[in-house]
Amino acid sequence: MATRITLGDGAKASFWNDAWLQGQCPKLFAPALYNISMRKNRSVKEALAHDTWLMDLRSGLTEQMTDELTNLAALLDDVQLQPDEHDSIVWRFSQKGSYSARSAYILQFEGAIKFDCHHLIWGAWATGKCRFFVWTAILSKILTADVLLRSNNYFCPLCMRNLETTYHLLVDCPWSRLVWDAIATMTKLPSLELATWNDSSDLKTWMNMRFRLAQADNRKKVLTVMHLVLWEIWLERNRRIFSLDSRQINVFLKKVADEIHHWNMAGAGIPFDPG
Ligand SMILES: [Zn+2]
Repeated sequence: MATRITLGDGAKASFWNDAWLQGQCPKLFAPALYNISMRKNRSVKEALAHDTWLMDLRSGLTEQMTDELTNLAALLDDVQLQPDEHDSIVWRFSQKGSYSARSAYILQFEGAIKFDCHHLIWGAWATGKCRFFVWTAILSKILTADVLLRSNNYFCPLCMRNLETTYHLLVDCPWSRLVWDAIATMTKLPSLELATWNDSSDLKTWMNMRFRLAQADNRKKVLTVMHLVLWEIWLERNRRIFSLDSRQINVFLKKVADEIHHWNMAGAGIPFDPG
């Protein structure tokens, strides 16, 4: 059983502790930020006014906190309080009668956002943080440089040439293209091969076309590999920005191969040919 807050004026719901954002508690999205917040009991209304939740944070952000901050800030961007209505608690059930992150996401999708590709998220075998990342990337909510235009570095940290958009960074960057082609070979999944890409200019379309091109019994594997590699590219990008450290492509591919191995030990079922 799950409770979900339907937000009205935000006066009753607790900003950190209630499941009011995408059906989840912000402290679950951003545990490190929650830890350094000096005011953990503010209402949503108080916290959002003049970005008070940000002012409440003790100084000294770590890399993990920076990631949490960008993700949480992006989600908060879409929040609209309804000043004339009270907050209310709604009880919801997933199909199995128990709470799941999936039911919370779907509730959200069926609400404010028209999201027609649940299969791209839930068809993969992937960890929760990785699914969440791909979901926000599809919605173009990750803070690539085109979203964060007030930052003074607009360039893709992988190639240092193009404007960093979600699609460029994760798919279309020359560096990322080399990665995907190597991955297609490594996993023997032909729908990931560059030669089949003629078709997209956004992440959702690109994922959908790779998914549809795959044979039925390969579709889950294609999604799983896409989740793993999208996530690893994102980590590499953050490493370059926040740690001023970059990996050569062969070192990166070795890391991906290790991750595939780990995921497979846990049941992911990714085909793998070390070559
Ligand atoms: Zn690039």
